[in-house]
Amino acid sequence: MRTCKQCDSEMVNGFDIKVDGTSYGIKITKNSTIFSERIEKPKVAICPKCGEVSLYIEKLDKISSR
Ligand SMILES: [Zn+2]
Repeated sequence: MRTCKQCDSEMVNGFDIKVDGTSYGIKITKNSTIFSERIEKPKVAICPKCGEVSLYIEKLDKISSR
């Protein structure tokens, strides 16, 4: 469960990211190198109380630099 960092409410997980006008979604980059092909697409959690939006990755074992 994710807790809102703004108001400590329980956030609603599992939303997908969609970018208007494309079907490519977004990419996460580091040092200008795209490594999003090796990790999960980011998911979105939304706080139903205050509207805070939080991005997260479900499978952290694919983040090799940790
Ligand atoms: Zn909140």
